[in-house]
Amino acid sequence: MVLHTSIMAVPEVVPLSRRRIEHLALQLVQSRSPNTLSAHDPFPVHQVCEFHLEALCGVSFAVDRLPSGTEGRFEGGELIINEDVYDALLRNDPRARFTLAHELAHCMLHKEQLDVLNSRKRGIVQLHRRGMLAPYRDPEWQADTYAGAVLMPAQVVKEIYDSIPDILRPAAPRYVADKLSVSLRAAEVRISILKEMEVLRP
Ligand SMILES: [Zn+2]
Repeated sequence: MVLHTSIMAVPEVVPLSRRRIEHLALQLVQSRSPNTLSAHDPFPVHQVCEFHLEALCGVSFAVDRLPSGTEGRFEGGELIINEDVYDALLRNDPRARFTLAHELAHCMLHKEQLDVLNSRKRGIVQLHRRGMLAPYRDPEWQADTYAGAVLMPAQVVKEIYDSIPDILRPAAPRYVADKLSVSLRAAEVRISILKEMEVLRP
């Protein structure tokens, strides 16, 4: 069972609410990068994966040439990142950082479930079309939610957002993107989620 090689068919996973995922992501940031919370430093997702993944969740990290279109794959014991993505990480590329944070989320949230799936006969594993699953049971939704919360912790985004003068508020995603090394699109999505959660004022 490989997560993420197909975005259309995924296994159902143990449900996780957005609130629970936010909590787990914050715990990781507190333990591995307190400066992200105190000084708004970008979360060092590359260093955490390359040097601490084994200690965090028993998954080893590797870089390899993967089939075209595959950015990373996680098969339970090993996270493999495509060499193009790794090169981009060395340049601090925002999109590569999100890709790696998404894979880190699978390691942190889904490793034990994958181990169980892998130990069974392949035929027993039921795959679902993504649209058929409730989001909170969809491993890809869970991984994107965790990645957003690790790279852009709610309290950090709130502090950046609240520090911007009202007249510049429409440019808030740009401020967040620059400060936390995420893409403009990722910052826009995160800000709109935090408004829905009433962490940020409209
Ligand atoms: Zn995935």
